[in-house]
Amino acid sequence: MKMVKKGDIIVIIVSLVLLVLCIGFCLLIKKDGIYVVIKEDNKTVYSGSLFKDDTIKLKHNTVKIKNGQAYMLCADCKNQICVNTGKISNSGETIVCLPNKVIVEIE
Ligand SMILES: [Zn+2]
Repeated sequence: MKMVKKGDIIVIIVSLVLLVLCIGFCLLIKKDGIYVVIKEDNKTVYSGSLFKDDTIKLKHNTVKIKNGQAYMLCADCKNQICVNTGKISNSGETIVCLPNKVIVEIE
């Protein structure tokens, strides 16, 4: 039987540690979606953590970030679809206000 060299063991351990760290990191990022990105007129006007409470006042809309959820607090559009969308917290979810060209997205 061939002897395993000390150097080989270190390489294997380092590789395993890196792999575990990488998987953990990826899971953490994918968990709930962490960033809220707000676009107005196709321009990004806000980008921040979903877990940092904030109130973002736009020209016609007010977006609220609270307790890891984002929602349209108020808007002056007629249909109020964006306000009625409710709270979003998962990656890929969006709140769209077509009349005011506002998009709130979790990334
Ligand atoms: Zn709206």
